[in-house]
Amino acid sequence: MKWLFPRPSTCVWCGRPAPGHDFCSACRQQLKGWQEFYRPCLYCGRLLPKEGEKICGHCRQKPPPFTMARAAGPYQGLLKEMIWAFKYQGRLSLAAPLGRLLAQVVVAEMGSWRPELVVPVPLTPGRLKARSFNQAELLGRSLAAELGLAFDGSIISRTKETAPQINLSREKRWQNLAGAFQITVPEKTKGRRLLLVDDVLTTGATACACTGVLMKGGTTGVAVVTLATGIEKSFYFST
Ligand SMILES: [Zn+2]
Ligand SMILES: [Zn+2]
Repeated sequence: MKWLFPRPSTCVWCGRPAPGHDFCSACRQQLKGWQEFYRPCLYCGRLLPKEGEKICGHCRQKPPPFTMARAAGPYQGLLKEMIWAFKYQGRLSLAAPLGRLLAQVVVAEMGSWRPELVVPVPLTPGRLKARSFNQAELLGRSLAAELGLAFDGSIISRTKETAPQINLSREKRWQNLAGAFQITVPEKTKGRRLLLVDDVLTTGATACACTGVLMKGGTTGVAVVTLATGIEKSFYFST
């Protein structure tokens, strides 16, 4: 399916030469710079200082329901700019390269955990109408094509119009999502390992809510991949 998403010879972000790559070497360097200082929490993928704990405070208290979550980097700098341009300015030419970036994360981070089906986090019907596209779906399609995996954008449906998570406190985010998702055809997910795709993981409430309904429907395991994640702050306040 690679012919659907041909690689250009210039950087899809800045236009500088990038033979054989989606992004030029300068942009790639910016996207990977965080790796010098941080590494992902083994469970939720939030970024932790490289020399410290391997599991974050949240996961030590309560491990997430998904097998693991991983991201391409922190929600800052160039990655944040790209997500913003893609999601809010409709720069849809970034969907394929950003999806391929996710594919690299899956290959590098998930090792022998092979998902069988790629599933995007759905938008609420109202937001889908306003934005006209679901960014997670576009990313998921590109990722699935790159890895030769099956993709299904209609597995999870959104049953109520929830408030945007971004305006809510940590606790309110969980309440907001209670009962927000359901699976459409349980036979499609039963006994299969799923890869859940979204653009950003913040508190993890959305990923946990989706994982919950998938597991209830008989899915054997869920891993989560997002473009960006948070840097674990508890480290700075852990006195
Ligand atoms: Zn570039
Ligand atoms: Zn964690």
